[in-house]
Amino acid sequence: MGVSAEITSIKPGDDLHICPACGYEYGFHTSFIRLNAPKDGKTSAVKSTRDLYRVILICPECGARFDAGWRVSFSDEESHVVLAATFLH
Ligand SMILES: [Zn+2]
Repeated sequence: MGVSAEITSIKPGDDLHICPACGYEYGFHTSFIRLNAPKDGKTSAVKSTRDLYRVILICPECGARFDAGWRVSFSDEESHVVLAATFLH
């Protein structure tokens, strides 16, 4: 089954490991969609210093996609920390 184009909002409740669409009960794949990604090839007028990503849950069984309202960002500072840790080895 292909991944659905629609993203359904979902509230993290008691049964977030169960897909509301098909009942698959072993959890979700996760993916990220950049919130401020330019559309139609246009570049955004305001350049954000920190890109914000929506965390998208994808059912491995039926491909339904869900947005639980989680937002994450990957800041430059955190990247530097990762790089510094890498150099120690
Ligand atoms: Zn499903």
